[in-house]
Amino acid sequence: MSKIISVANQKGGVGKTTTVINLGYSLAEQGMKILLVDADPQGNTTSGISNLKNQKPNLYSALIEEVSIEKVIYSLGDGKNKVRENLFIIPSNIDLAGAEIELVSMLFRELKLKEILDKIKENFDIILIDSPPSLGLLTVNSLVASDYVLIPLQCEYYALEGISQLLKTINLIRKNLNQNLEILGVLLTMYSRTTLAQQVIEEAQKYFKDKVFKTLIPRNVRLSEAPSYSQSIFEYAPDSSGAEAYREITKEVIQRVFSKEGLR
Ligand code: ADP
Ligand code: MG
Repeated sequence: MSKIISVANQKGGVGKTTTVINLGYSLAEQGMKILLVDADPQGNTTSGISNLKNQKPNLYSALIEEVSIEKVIYSLGDGKNKVRENLFIIPSNIDLAGAEIELVSMLFRELKLKEILDKIKENFDIILIDSPPSLGLLTVNSLVASDYVLIPLQCEYYALEGISQLLKTINLIRKNLNQNLEILGVLLTMYSRTTLAQQVIEEAQKYFKDKVFKTLIPRNVRLSEAPSYSQSIFEYAPDSSGAEAYREITKEVIQRVFSKEGLR
């Protein structure tokens, strides 16, 4: 059974893109066939793992220009690294900003991404969608297309601010558009050993209970350097604390996604 996971939080800079790239890579390392969908017009997932930022056709072409989905899926294989043979991407760039507006007047505008992903879903084990820092139509499309949403929270002041809006959106989508949508978990990112971080963790646990992943992603400069080489942390700095943490969270994700059905 394939699963689609949106990584979402309407706040920017909380670790969505970093999580999509590194969780995706780490899942591929486990032998799973993984598709990354860059649904953020900033295209940071695209540039952070590939050189496909200017590639066309892209997600915009499939959403708005009716280019077939098969044509916008690119292999991240480089002929050297075996893990990358399991990794695929639907790239994006600033073109996609137009989709946020053009979708408004379309029929079934909230269902466009689901419509196209459903055609290829079963070709992958897991599809990870990076969503933009807003609760606009692109994020709604991501959530409607997904089985799960993973919510990164930065261990900083105001981490939970705006979260009730996100949860309200998730609940509305569940009620009206996608009753399967489940919160996979809340991932605490950019953790450092401070009193403030500890307070954020406690607050998140009070609010989300056992939905909070046990693994904390530490603040690690290697994680912020890797994208400029278009590499995952496992390629750029495999022994870093960031790599170790993303390996751990991968285990938790596999456990939560496949616990009911067992890994195939
Ligand atoms: P979002 O996609 O939510 O906007 P990003 O994943 O792009 O967030 O992260 C925001 C910035 O912080 C980026 O420059 C990224 O490289 C950096 N970053 C993300 N996670 C970490 C971390 N654990 N430690 C240090 N820097 C991080
Ligand atoms: Mg991002």
